[in-house]
Amino acid sequence: MPIAKRMTDMVAAMEMVTKMFEEGDRLRSQYGTENVFDFSLGNPDVPPPPEFKKVLRELVADDALGHGYTPNAGHAQVRQAVAEHLGAEHGLSVPPELVVMTVGAAGALNDVLNAVVNPGEEILVPSPYFIGYQHYAFLAGATVKTIPTDERFHLDIAAAEAAINAKTRVMLINSPNNPTGAVYTAEELAALGEVLEQAGARFGRRIYLVSDEPYRKIAYQGEVPSVFQAYAHSIVVSSYSKELSLAGERIGYLAVNPAAEDARLVADAAAVVNTMLCVNAPSLLQLAVARLQGVTVDVTIYKRRRDLLCRGLAEIGYRFHEPEGAFYLFPQSPIADDVEFVRLLKEQLILAVPGRGFGAPGYFRLSYAVPDATITGSMKGFRRALQQAS
Ligand code: PLP
Repeated sequence: MPIAKRMTDMVAAMEMVTKMFEEGDRLRSQYGTENVFDFSLGNPDVPPPPEFKKVLRELVADDALGHGYTPNAGHAQVRQAVAEHLGAEHGLSVPPELVVMTVGAAGALNDVLNAVVNPGEEILVPSPYFIGYQHYAFLAGATVKTIPTDERFHLDIAAAEAAINAKTRVMLINSPNNPTGAVYTAEELAALGEVLEQAGARFGRRIYLVSDEPYRKIAYQGEVPSVFQAYAHSIVVSSYSKELSLAGERIGYLAVNPAAEDARLVADAAAVVNTMLCVNAPSLLQLAVARLQGVTVDVTIYKRRRDLLCRGLAEIGYRFHEPEGAFYLFPQSPIADDVEFVRLLKEQLILAVPGRGFGAPGYFRLSYAVPDATITGSMKGFRRALQQAS
């Protein structure tokens, strides 16, 4: 066998994703870009804030700027800047030693999971969920165990409690959520924190709450509640991929709750994994984001698109919960077979992702990181697909 046995299924699954993208390109070249309505990608299209290029220009104009390796956990002044901003947001003081600069939230998740999870242990994930979690768990030799959410895709605390066992090491949550747009409330997080605390005592082991927050700044109903306030053994992972539209530049961070026991050891272990996986986060981007703390993309653009898409689809007769954050809508498929419905949409030149790709058959995901014209132009096709399905 030319490749590692354990990679065979992973490569096959990735090929399906690649095929989906190639199919989009094929449709665009056949029918013209303006006639294809591509809601399949979670790639932010809103431009980065103008401050980003300004900061970048200033940095590269500085002849004294070095381009060598940085300390593995990141430049000291960058960790300081991130820790200060994060601490202010979460209402507590975060020492810079508990922050590690990473290659996006993906890099941060790989760092954290490899640092705290033993092979064979379980990571609990509320479903529907971002498929990347399967990949990160796979690399850490861990298993993802999904737990149901409630009818609005919010946390089902009783289900979480019932799922915890002697193998549980991490509860991994994502709010604002990809693919559902749910934002968990402070009450939900507090209840979850209590359950994790009690379960940890019952099973005599530490269970971490890892909160994946790359969409934190894209929230439509005010601030996203803090996990640091809800549970001591919590770790935040995040990035500037969405809040500054820098997904391709690969810059993010992780931060360990200062209230966690052994917080420094956990952060140091994550920094060691960071060293093993990628040596250090991109130096130039570290320096840039340090100067952009508190700056975000224009979220009103995403809100306008959310409203446009929700209004249009509701009028046609689609059923969904209005997203509270991120830039995804997760409607019910009008027929049980979501893959078949996504095929019907494709006949109308609309590209979407079946819900089963997120552990939720019977739904489909639309990313509204697309121009307004894509949304308005797609409505006829959405109507026809619904008619065909019924
Ligand atoms: N977590 C979620 C929920 C995501 O949707 C994504 C990317 O789409 C990531 C993590 C990875 O993001 P990053 O670009 O910061 O690595």
